[in-house]
Amino acid sequence: MSDMTADGVRDEVRAWLDETWDPERPLREWRELLADSGWGCPTWPVEHCGRGLSPALAAVVAEEFDRVGAVGTATGSAMTLAAPTILEKGSEDLKGRLLRPIITGENTWCQLFSEPGSGSDLAGLTTRADRDGDEWVVTGQKVWTTGARTAAYAMLLARTDWEAPKHRGITYFALPMRQPGVEVRPLQQMNGYASFNEVFITEARVPHANVVGEVGGGWGSALATLAHERGLAGNRGGRTGRGDGRTVREAVAEAAEYNKTYVWYPQRAGRSDLIAPEAQERGVNGDPTVRQMAASLHAFEKAARWTADRSRAARAQGRPPGPEGSLGKLHGSEIARRSAATHTRIAGAYGMLTGPDSPRNGIIAEVLVSVPGASIAGGTDEVQHNIIGERVLGLPKEPTVDADIPFKEVRRNSGR
Ligand SMILES: Cc1cc2nc3c(=O)[nH]c(=O)nc-3n(C[C@H](O)[C@H](O)[C@H](O)COP(=O)(O)OP(=O)(O)OC[C@H]3O[C@@H](n4cnc5c(N)ncnc54)[C@H](O)[C@@H]3O)c2cc1C
Repeated sequence: MSDMTADGVRDEVRAWLDETWDPERPLREWRELLADSGWGCPTWPVEHCGRGLSPALAAVVAEEFDRVGAVGTATGSAMTLAAPTILEKGSEDLKGRLLRPIITGENTWCQLFSEPGSGSDLAGLTTRADRDGDEWVVTGQKVWTTGARTAAYAMLLARTDWEAPKHRGITYFALPMRQPGVEVRPLQQMNGYASFNEVFITEARVPHANVVGEVGGGWGSALATLAHERGLAGNRGGRTGRGDGRTVREAVAEAAEYNKTYVWYPQRAGRSDLIAPEAQERGVNGDPTVRQMAASLHAFEKAARWTADRSRAARAQGRPPGPEGSLGKLHGSEIARRSAATHTRIAGAYGMLTGPDSPRNGIIAEVLVSVPGASIAGGTDEVQHNIIGERVLGLPKEPTVDADIPFKEVRRNSGR
């Protein structure tokens, strides 16, 4: 397959779409066809619902889907984080069982990584899993878990070996969420939404066959997930198609339901698109300070976009993304912070108001209390600086005192 030409792929997908894309088909049925044919995930292996195409040829497939307005695979972290991790680290059995319901949208996933005492220091986690025959029994507490209320499965990190050093005693599981031992409690954020949850796990059960990677090799699988998360830069996938046929209507409704959790994410990114109109409406577009802040932000955003484009172009040509791939996360946080500062300068104290007669119906206030999330989510900016220092610039590693001793001897202030 991968030795096909762009024209060959275009002809083939066009013929398939001409024959198969029927806008009145039920969404579930269409998604099954996407999985069967491999056209929904063209870069995936042929034996696992893909066609083994290069990213450049997959772009041709996407163009053809867009041309006819066809619906694609489901959106969300199942597709962007769980699936690539399973493809990279999972057994053939796991790929066979778990990938297809991700493509069809039947299963959404959440990420049970962070704990009250382990966020940046993720390898210090203390949720435990103990082997019991063909199963593992999991007990512990997770926090910040986005989308846990609706997820069918979780990417779970748990400690399975307390004698090993901290990075080597962790195992990555695909945990079924809908079971008595898993209790999800929503947490309200300062912007009023509750997209995060605390998850209390009490003797929950997970089959041994659901280990992603090796027992004790969970850190490597976690890094695979995190690499995809940091490379996301806001792209959550999901092509809902065009037109008013049944398939599109159902895909739009499915995406809207899923995206309820993420309605504040545009505000988290700073809403720089509102800066010029807000400045005009408030009559401060002639203010030299506002102009300077807006222009400098605009230039920064352009440079960040071009850097991201370079990284994407490298990947499309099959080259590694290079150092620019590590900068996207920091650029996003910087744009969010600068946008919030510029909005504050424009709106002044009004920016603190919410409700119908406040700036942009409270959206500006929502920006101000949402942007801190940008520099925390998916690993903090400070940790990203450390990663760039060590992996890109080759600076000495951050000193650690606990990486080489058995985890049970590591001094910590939480966990069992
Ligand atoms: C919008 C959002 C969604 C999220 N969704 C999920 C999710 O679905 N699943 C999940 O598991 N987690 C999720 N998280 C959690 C997120 O991954 C953690 O919040 C993050 O990794 C930081 O961990 P922490 O909150 O424990 O902060 P801490 O690790 O306690 O950090 C506190 C402060 O210390 C700094 N710091 C810590 N270590 C270092 C160091 N070595 N060098 C320099 N500075 C350091 C940090 O930068 C930070 O400023 C989400 C977070 C946000 C904001």
